[in-house]
Amino acid sequence: MNIHEYQAKERFRAAGIPVPPGEVARTPDEAESIARGFGGTVVVKAQVHSGGRGKAGGVKLAKTPEEAREHAARILGMQIKGLTVERVLVTPAEDITSEAYVGVLVDRKSQAPTFMVSAEGGVDIEEVAATHPEAIRRLAVDPRYGLLPHQALWLANSLYDDPAVMKRAAKAIGQLYRAFVDSGASMAEINPLITTADGEVKAIDAKMSIDDNELFRRPEVAAMRDTSAEPPSETKAREASLSYVKLDGSVGCCVNGAGLAMATMDLVKFYGGEPANFLDIGGSSNPEKVVAALEIITSDPNVKVILFNIFGGITRCDDVANGIVEATRRIDIKVPIVIRLTGTNEEQALEILERAGFSAFTSMDEVVEKAVALSKA
Ligand code: GDP
Ligand code: MN
Repeated sequence: MNIHEYQAKERFRAAGIPVPPGEVARTPDEAESIARGFGGTVVVKAQVHSGGRGKAGGVKLAKTPEEAREHAARILGMQIKGLTVERVLVTPAEDITSEAYVGVLVDRKSQAPTFMVSAEGGVDIEEVAATHPEAIRRLAVDPRYGLLPHQALWLANSLYDDPAVMKRAAKAIGQLYRAFVDSGASMAEINPLITTADGEVKAIDAKMSIDDNELFRRPEVAAMRDTSAEPPSETKAREASLSYVKLDGSVGCCVNGAGLAMATMDLVKFYGGEPANFLDIGGSSNPEKVVAALEIITSDPNVKVILFNIFGGITRCDDVANGIVEATRRIDIKVPIVIRLTGTNEEQALEILERAGFSAFTSMDEVVEKAVALSKA
């Protein structure tokens, strides 16, 4: 689950990280009155689950409350990377002397929370990593001990020369680790961590992703979910307890079991196609789930064909077949559907499908080849 900058800042502030104050506005009027309350120059910032807002025109300095209103009017409703801005954060502007990057994420390779810091902050860290990776210092944290003080100093040492600044940054890095662990985050990032003319360090941007599996024991974090900021298909999938990840290809996949779903995607690629999604309908084969899955897949305009790949174990093939028939009765599906079913109650399933006018396969290779061909037709 992603949260907004203003929400991540609340968590960071609570952990002790120096974060400038800020308030959220939903209208230009509100933005103006917040700016008036702060006095002086403010920054108006789009609140969407995406980075690169600055480049997209979603972060603007305003010298007067009137200017804050104008910027808010322009930013509210704006699209950034396909996401509509519904809120802006209004925050006093800072005088920046340097911008650094500080982030921590769960790294599969080191199997540990791993820090990445760079004196080249403000810009995309991916770009720094690609062009001059030596500008990034990395450190894997042993979760049994947490981030030790000397490790935090070692990270801060690569960012600043002044020992006083270094110590302040090390403290903030330690607090970021606390916020990361206490929030059940998979990623927490400050970009940029700035220094001011008097040598203070402050987090003026904040980003955090929460591991969905951590939410059940952290209701206060779960309450930060903003479904209006998430792709509607993902919200729908979560509500129907389907695991769904949208991708960019044209073969819509509907599979039972995560392993088979991945194998299916691999095979689609092997035969020269591109999967439009990962979708696991799970072990149970309640027809309603199949209907929800088809609604989600067909709402993606890139989908040219729908591929079912079902291996019946606990999942009963006849249930899935009934779900497919029910779904085509309820929704107008404009793309071809190709189906492979094998396992529990396979014969009944094939009968149900044949009666409804579908032909089904039992070979996975055959059905995937067919789906890829149709996706290109
Ligand atoms: P992002 O583009 O989505 O990462 O949004 P950021 O919050 O990082 O803002 C982008 C850039 O705007 C920062 O790297 C800063 O250079 C600039 N910026 C943001 N807040 C302030 C501020 O208070 N004062 C000044 N001078 N610049 C700011
Ligand atoms: Mn940023």
